[in-house]
Amino acid sequence: MKIVVVGSVALDTVRTPFGEGTEILGGSATHFSCAASFFTEVGLVAVIGDDFPAEHIEFLKTRGINTAGLQMVDGRTFRWEGFYEYDLNQAHTVDTQLNVFEHFKPQLPEEFKQTEFLFLANIDPELQLQVLSQVNKDAYSVCDTMNFWIERKPGPLTEIIKRVNMCLMNDSEAREFCRTFSMLDSARRLMALGPQAVILKKGEHGALMFTDSTHFAAPAFPIEEIKDPTGAGDSFAGGFLGHLASTGDLSEPNIRRAIIYGSVMASFNVEGFGTARLTTLTRDEIEARYQVFRDITWF
Ligand code: AMP
Repeated sequence: MKIVVVGSVALDTVRTPFGEGTEILGGSATHFSCAASFFTEVGLVAVIGDDFPAEHIEFLKTRGINTAGLQMVDGRTFRWEGFYEYDLNQAHTVDTQLNVFEHFKPQLPEEFKQTEFLFLANIDPELQLQVLSQVNKDAYSVCDTMNFWIERKPGPLTEIIKRVNMCLMNDSEAREFCRTFSMLDSARRLMALGPQAVILKKGEHGALMFTDSTHFAAPAFPIEEIKDPTGAGDSFAGGFLGHLASTGDLSEPNIRRAIIYGSVMASFNVEGFGTARLTTLTRDEIEARYQVFRDITWF
């Protein structure tokens, strides 16, 4: 397996200034695996309830996602409800129902344990730790999180950050976790815990990558019609790790290219509600937007 992801598979209810969606397919692991599936093979580890629509499982399968690690149990699927005002960088959570995630014990299928890359998407850091301990020690691991877990589970979250190769966070989450205003200072504090690299996502203002010797800044792709920013961070991560895993090249120039692929995937994701835009997206469209990115960032 090239990439294994653990995270939420959700039914999202979302309102933005441009429309709304009720109980649509969402979740951090969903957005990640859909984006990564355009680049390489992905194995999904998550739990859903018996109310989860079969058509969503079919959709994940048509994207080529390996669902052997997706457990269905009695009970209700994880639900998240939120809204955005005109500042689309700021999601306002109305309700989070963990439901079947409360008693989830991830069990990785054998074929997932030898994965080359592991993405610990936004979910309870204790579940992230359980998955991390099941994969081979050489897997290149990357974690993400959100304010919900920074506030409720700071101890296990710190443990995860200590043990991964790379850490992704939103700028506001990094400020909250690191208790500093500066992005550079946040990145240094995160790297002091263990990761060799940190990527700080700034929504419509792009992303910053830090290592102990470099700093790379990528803008976000300018789009005219944003519908729903939910999942932008996870599709960024999917494009980013999808490119790294499909090339197997962890050199710095390739990590920079991966950040651009991540930005491209995030830009497509926000053009529709939930995963809607990705149902029609093609690899040619991804490459075309990657080339435009080259042009607009060249000087
Ligand atoms: P993003 O916009 O990339 O930060 O991720 C949005 C996705 O995260 C949504 O589809 C939600 O279902 C999911 N989500 C929201 N809150 C949580 C949470 N506390 N734990 C796990 N996933 C969540």
